[in-house]
Amino acid sequence: MKKNILIVGAGFSGAVIGRLLAEENYKVTIIDSRNHIAGNCYSARHKETNVLVHTYGPHIFHTDNETVWNFVNKHTNMMPYVNRVKATVNGQVFSLPINLHTINQFFKKTCSPQEAKALIESKGDHTITEPTSFEQQALRFVGKELYEAFFKGYTIKQWGLDPSELPASILKRLPVRFNYDDNYFNHKFQGMPEEGYTPLVESILNHPNITVKLNTQFEKSDKQKYDHLFYSGPLDAYFDYQFGHLAYRTLDFEEFSQQGDYQGTAVMNYCETSVPYTRITEHKYFAPWESHEGTVCYKEYSRLCGENDIPYYPIRLVGEMTQLEKYVALAKNEPAITFVGRLGTYRYLDMDVTIAEAMQTAQLFLDAVANATPMPAFTCETGQAH
Ligand code: UDP
Repeated sequence: MKKNILIVGAGFSGAVIGRLLAEENYKVTIIDSRNHIAGNCYSARHKETNVLVHTYGPHIFHTDNETVWNFVNKHTNMMPYVNRVKATVNGQVFSLPINLHTINQFFKKTCSPQEAKALIESKGDHTITEPTSFEQQALRFVGKELYEAFFKGYTIKQWGLDPSELPASILKRLPVRFNYDDNYFNHKFQGMPEEGYTPLVESILNHPNITVKLNTQFEKSDKQKYDHLFYSGPLDAYFDYQFGHLAYRTLDFEEFSQQGDYQGTAVMNYCETSVPYTRITEHKYFAPWESHEGTVCYKEYSRLCGENDIPYYPIRLVGEMTQLEKYVALAKNEPAITFVGRLGTYRYLDMDVTIAEAMQTAQLFLDAVANATPMPAFTCETGQAH
């Protein structure tokens, strides 16, 4: 007998699981408390300028996973897009991630790749043998000057913590290159959905076995009516915050629009603490195949997430991880529920990883049903910080 499935959250996790189960003839109901699908990937056209705006901040699709890439391409036309980020520091504009151009600009040199490597090597603090914090990692591998110019201030603003308190893994997201490659990502596939993320998620959800209910709060009693629940809402919210709120950073966006261009590129980081925002994004540059007379920009501010704010980045320091363990233990005792996605597992996930995990979760569920084995509460490791 085919089963009835409830999914909480119409972002990538919920949509992908819903779609794969719907294709296997399950009846899927997806609820979302917001008035739109696509979660934080939601995009919409700006009324006056018609620019496609990433409403909850910039999302750039990049992956090495060919299965995921093929899946999104089946649901939308992915346009070529390469993320190139600039940074304003000390009244100068530099290229990011740190590459040969950045090094030559910053030290006013004309180094070859080998010379730049030797220069940076000489700047590194070799007394640090096993860097564990963000700060140690930076001091060891790029040295004090580049660390203080590009990482220290930005990280204090982004995380509200000194880089000495943050794990090295956050910095490891960023490459350092000794050539002029200024592609922010190292992945094999990169692109943007031609009409934005909303139609992409809409296409994933477009199946006769899927019913989407927006503006619908999840109630625990809903669960009784279904055979299994996939929950992509906040893990702590499901358990009524009984061990307190898991800490997140939230983002505030100050939107402004004008005629013409504002900054001539999609992303300009501001790495100094004297500037209160972390970056300005100019949204029409995320769709370079379009042309617009006007422009829409977001000034992005990061702060600690309050009760009524939208959670973005899980903080996952030691204190939060202890709290997380308690929620994970409770979750493992709940029958017929699987916690998924960024909020359900309290992990910072790129879109491609979210989709890959959702695919894997759907398959595990199908296998569990076929083998009459229980479906686990988590299909990923929740325990590793960052
Ligand atoms: N970062 C920085 N300066 C920059 C950009 C990034 O110090 O100009 C640090 C910051 O701590 C950030 C981390 O590197 O959280 C990872 O950067 P990424 O661009 O991956 O940030 P995300 O995509 O997570 O916002």
